[in-house]
Amino acid sequence: MQTDILVIGQGICGTFLSYYLDKAGVDYLVIDDSREDAPSRVAAGIINPVTGRRVVTVWKADEIIPYSWEAYGEIGALLGITAISQKNILDFFPNPFMRESFLKKKAEDNPYINLVETDYSHLFNYEFGIGSIQPAYTAHLQTLLPAWRNYLQTHQRLLSETVDPAQIVIDQDIVRYKDIRAKKIIFCDGAAGNENPYFANLPFAPNKGEALLVTIPGLAQDHIYKKSITLAPLPEPELFWAGSNYLWEFEDSRPTSEFYEQTIQQLQHFLKIPFTVVDHLAAIRPATVERRPFTGFHPVHTAVGILNGMGTKGCSLAPYFAKQLCDHITGGVPLSPEADISRYTKVLSR
Ligand SMILES: Cc1cc2nc3c(=O)[nH]c(=O)nc-3n(C[C@H](O)[C@H](O)[C@H](O)COP(=O)(O)OP(=O)(O)OC[C@H]3O[C@@H](n4cnc5c(N)ncnc54)[C@H](O)[C@@H]3O)c2cc1C
Repeated sequence: MQTDILVIGQGICGTFLSYYLDKAGVDYLVIDDSREDAPSRVAAGIINPVTGRRVVTVWKADEIIPYSWEAYGEIGALLGITAISQKNILDFFPNPFMRESFLKKKAEDNPYINLVETDYSHLFNYEFGIGSIQPAYTAHLQTLLPAWRNYLQTHQRLLSETVDPAQIVIDQDIVRYKDIRAKKIIFCDGAAGNENPYFANLPFAPNKGEALLVTIPGLAQDHIYKKSITLAPLPEPELFWAGSNYLWEFEDSRPTSEFYEQTIQQLQHFLKIPFTVVDHLAAIRPATVERRPFTGFHPVHTAVGILNGMGTKGCSLAPYFAKQLCDHITGGVPLSPEADISRYTKVLSR
């Protein structure tokens, strides 16, 4: 079998990369083993313009946030699904300092934040007021990934198996894997990239995160609610995603009892209405030391590329950088220098 681009992995990176290759009329094949513990199958899908205790505007927010809305809208229209919804964030200040930070940013004319006057005291325990963050979205990865997989299958563009990178042979400008010959191979293999022989030298900083899925009858699914825990509505009625933690040291990707117990306590403190836990998920985020993605082609093995390192922001960064990589492949458009792996030429040439 012959193809132009072999894409390894169909998380959110491989999904958008193959979508743009498809749209550009490039011949491609995706190989994916659909791991349950891939972060794209665990994420809340939140796309937000400001983040953290200090209410910092995220990197490239003005470009990437509107781009995400359009990209998910477009792929959703092709597949006949809703792939994204606007769900602004209600940020319940957990202490006076967070309220102060928020007010300071508001005074600096941050366009993404406002104070909220609505009373939520019948639903939540809070003492220091509420801010809103808008526009914020949830990408419906639980709907999108299987729908795109189905599209790939229907168009004979998917092989469902695990690729052993040791079986890949790079013969000058030709990539061979079993009976497949391709002009280029692009790894969208998430946290597995940390052990991928071509890219293991990149400064990955894998980071484990967990979430509980909970039903909360009586809580409107029109916002994301945040205090010490984030509650993000999922497409199913009454269902919310509750998370998360950031573990830099971990033995495996399995859920932990510590997170389970701590999250139940946080939910009991935050909510005044009953909830039921229906699932507990965990995954390893493909984060990077300097919190910027890895995209582009290997300096020595020039037929081998990567789209990875999305960290905590894969839902917003993946569509933007997948499009950029596709334009780079088809039209030589330069990659953003902050994301281009040519910044690690020395390390990758060892
Ligand atoms: C708890 C949690 C919450 C999160 N919440 C958010 C959020 O709200 N918003 C946000 O933007 N981001 C969030 N993230 C981060 C986001 O999930 C990641 O940045 C993103 O999913 C990474 O996508 P990816 O495609 O690079 O990797 P992955 O999701 O890991 O996908 C890799 C794919 O490649 C396949 N694969 C790997 N190796 C092989 C191989 N050798 N052969 C075949 N297939 C292979 C896997 O099966 C998988 O399908 C969250 C992460 C976690 C853990």
